[in-house]
Amino acid sequence: MGTTNTLTENQGKVKTENESIDIVKSTQTIIHEALQYLGYSEETYELLKEPLRMLTVRIPVRMDNGKIKVFTGYRAQHNDAAGPTKGGVRFHPDVNEQEVKALSMWMTMKSGIVNLPYGGGKGGIVCDPREMSFRELEALSRGYVRAISQIVGPSKDIPAPDVYTNSQIMAWMMDEYSHISEFDSPGFITGKPLVLGGSEGRDTATARGVTICVEEAARKRGIDLKDARIIIQGFGNAGSYLSKFMHDAGAKIVGISDAYGALYDENGLDINYLLERRDSFGTVTNLFDNTISNKKLFEQDCDILIPAAIANQITMENAKDIKASIVVEAANGPTTLEATKVLTKRGILLVPDVLASAGGVTASYFEWVQNNQGYYWTADEVMTKLRTILIDSFHKVMASAEKHQVDMRLAAYIVGIRRTAEAAKFRGWA
Ligand code: NAD
Repeated sequence: MGTTNTLTENQGKVKTENESIDIVKSTQTIIHEALQYLGYSEETYELLKEPLRMLTVRIPVRMDNGKIKVFTGYRAQHNDAAGPTKGGVRFHPDVNEQEVKALSMWMTMKSGIVNLPYGGGKGGIVCDPREMSFRELEALSRGYVRAISQIVGPSKDIPAPDVYTNSQIMAWMMDEYSHISEFDSPGFITGKPLVLGGSEGRDTATARGVTICVEEAARKRGIDLKDARIIIQGFGNAGSYLSKFMHDAGAKIVGISDAYGALYDENGLDINYLLERRDSFGTVTNLFDNTISNKKLFEQDCDILIPAAIANQITMENAKDIKASIVVEAANGPTTLEATKVLTKRGILLVPDVLASAGGVTASYFEWVQNNQGYYWTADEVMTKLRTILIDSFHKVMASAEKHQVDMRLAAYIVGIRRTAEAAKFRGWA
């Protein structure tokens, strides 16, 4: 870690707080609609339209220059009726309260779709880890855990990695929590290194899950992956493994991108070379002169488009320019609700984030189960279980779309919200 790139005009669209408020509003709209399809009352919507808990913290860190810098962090817990809340921690300069709220609500949907005994949670810190040293990142990670320690824990709320956080950061956070709680607590956080109770297959799980959804969607549309041309936005944990899995399946990766720009070649990119050269933040395009912008990348010709970076990338502005016939959302919230309608109207099959990227939380659940029982599974066992759950979930959502005659996003929310709504009803919360 520790590159010191600075962002250029070539970066993807950066969110504003208003766009994040829109994310919350559109999430509320679709939760409301999903609850109506399921026959739940307005009381249930009142309960589920906002996180139960939202903590804002200020974290002082002594920087390498000797000065104290105070960072702002958040932890949102959408609803814990179905079990402890669960969701990643994001380190990114665009993190804000509204975005963290929406992300926690999406985690409830994901857990519900893959039928895990969890509610949704999410955390974030406003920072740019690309400009911080290893030591500063450790101090920030530990400071965050101290600040949120009262509301998290192995049976309360279980964090995990997300954008610009990784297994090293999870290790520091787990260590800090173990000091605070005075017992070794591997089940406090997932996405840990293997030697600290991490699970085989966790690092590739999100990309594996997306791959399964791409395969199922391609089958549905009669597209042979071996002939498919694929564009992937983002070359981090999700995007880089995904490009490898797609490449290994025989598909042609014609476009990839990172925060600094994009590469497109209709004859296919040399994925193995790009994977070798990417840094730990998922940056690789800075090594090339012939880059295009992230915006331009979305307009290029392809069969399957996979946004795997940040939110709000397919909007009313560019939805009409998308050439792909399948969009599979590896990132959280890459398509606005209005743009979803445009894509659906244009006959594009959109596999929503809450389904497509649920492989991460599924493998995190496996990690937590292994931590709780102190017995660890092989990579094959993890992959077999993950595959079964994801294929089943894809078809559950597809069946819900067909039954209710709705797009896959609403169908996924109908499947996803059910578990929490039902648990809340049994508890007498609604
Ligand atoms: P990462 O930090 O490993 O990689 C992020 C990638 O996005 C990098 O290539 C980075 O350059 C790029 N990026 C950052 N800002 C950008 C911008 N403004 N424009 C264009 N590209 C930009 O993160 P990740 O873990 O791969 O997560 C990517 C997406 O997948 C996020 O939306 C995340 O919430 C979602 N997701 C991740 C997991 C997981 O387990 N890692 C699970 C579910 C969902």
